[in-house]
Amino acid sequence: MTGAVETGAGVIQPGLYIDGGWQDASGAATLPVVDPATEEEIATVAAGTVADLDRAVAAARAAFAGFTATPVAARRAMLERIHALILERAEPLARALTREMGATISHARGAHVPLAAAHVRVAADLLTDYPFLTMRGTTAIVREPIGVCGLITPWNWPLYQITAKVAPALAAGCTVVLKPSELSPLSALLFAQIVHDSGVPRGVFNLVNGTGAAIGAAMAAHRDIDMISITGSNRAGVLVAQAAAPTVKRVTQELGGKSPNILLPDADLARAVPLGVMAAFRNVGQSCSAPTRMIVPRARLTEVEAIARATASAITVGDPADEATTMGPIANAAQHRRVAAMIATGIAEGATLLCGGPGRPPGHHRGYFVRPTIFTGVTSDMRIAQEEIFGPVLAIIPYDDIDEAVAIANDTVFGLGGHVQGADLDQARAVARRIRTGQVHLNHPEWDPHAPFGGYRHSGNGREYGAFGLEEYLETKAILGFA
Ligand code: NAD
Repeated sequence: MTGAVETGAGVIQPGLYIDGGWQDASGAATLPVVDPATEEEIATVAAGTVADLDRAVAAARAAFAGFTATPVAARRAMLERIHALILERAEPLARALTREMGATISHARGAHVPLAAAHVRVAADLLTDYPFLTMRGTTAIVREPIGVCGLITPWNWPLYQITAKVAPALAAGCTVVLKPSELSPLSALLFAQIVHDSGVPRGVFNLVNGTGAAIGAAMAAHRDIDMISITGSNRAGVLVAQAAAPTVKRVTQELGGKSPNILLPDADLARAVPLGVMAAFRNVGQSCSAPTRMIVPRARLTEVEAIARATASAITVGDPADEATTMGPIANAAQHRRVAAMIATGIAEGATLLCGGPGRPPGHHRGYFVRPTIFTGVTSDMRIAQEEIFGPVLAIIPYDDIDEAVAIANDTVFGLGGHVQGADLDQARAVARRIRTGQVHLNHPEWDPHAPFGGYRHSGNGREYGAFGLEEYLETKAILGFA
């Protein structure tokens, strides 16, 4: 086992976690981890090979029969131990997130870690009374774990996406092989140590680092993996589904989004606009369900623009480790280039730049920082209204009547998140029913970890979180003549 690394977030094992222990990769390749605030390499982690993946899958397969027979109460207790350890180690986890993808330390402490823990809490709680066996007449309907699951996660909410998959998979009684994003693997390695320390039986949880092209693709095609759950880009989601088809795996895909936020004519703009801007810019705009299209009544456009500009100007872009910072850098170089290109596209398309724009914010000469950017006068046919940008870039699109607002909201290939703001709740509810997305939020409610999350159309297939998330990892068996 090569030496553990100190990254400023505590000591992290750089290896692979297979069959209950840390192991070296069978090859010599490593993956660099770059701090996006400084552009400096802060660590390397071992890059797994396909032979390593085979060992991990074999361990998960060998563990499956025993683990699936574990009493539900024991699985619940195991998840509770994982939950407690995440909270106990919240600070090193938050620091790892700050260093590996630039989350501000306050956002890492206040959102990335506690929301990740919430997925584990929810999975544990579901096991209190989840009906794994129900009767329909004389037929028993039994819900059973699907088997060995391959879990592929992205860099934007690294820990949160991991627990959203691992916790329900273990709750269901599945065994897993996790491949975290190669761009932000540090929090994943801390999580693997937590799983280890919580006493999860060997082989039940395995972690293999690697690129999507090498390890992710091999997982999708693997003959002994029964299901793949991927969160990532549409490109990767489609490639996984294609590679998984010959082995008839279940494939759950949580992919991109271009989520609408309709401000109805009676919306309280003083509340709705700042919350809408901050929701779009949360996590530096790197959230799949970020409401990046603010669809506003043309008669109130000037008011909206003034409030939106004031909201953006109050954002402090800077060192994510500084508690006063409210927006850190974009998480990596490739994404930084994409965001810059899309800001240039918006200008070239003729959208009006309300604030922000090309280049780093004043005073920043290195790091993947961008300026919080708002375009107004955007039309639905523009690329900045159609394509996921995944950065702090908001498009304000005016409408003349509610039918047009709904038509604009539904005018993308995506269907992940949606928001409606309005004083008349009945009207807001009616508009929500017309939006073709997996979630719709009315007037910025609290986050609900039980609410199913997932996409219509190109945003994916399947649902995560809560009972719906658990059921993704279950097969359905009917036993006729049971009673
Ligand atoms: P990405 O597609 O580049 O990578 C995601 C994961 O897929 C990584 O682990 C990567 O290694 C792996 N991967 C890449 N190519 C693969 C292949 N050919 N086969 C198997 N695995 C492969 O995405 P990203 O840039 O890390 O994440 C950002 C994207 O994720 C955005 O599009 C965002 O909308 C989406 N996302 C969706 C949700 C959701 O729940 N719907 C949540 C977060 C992020």
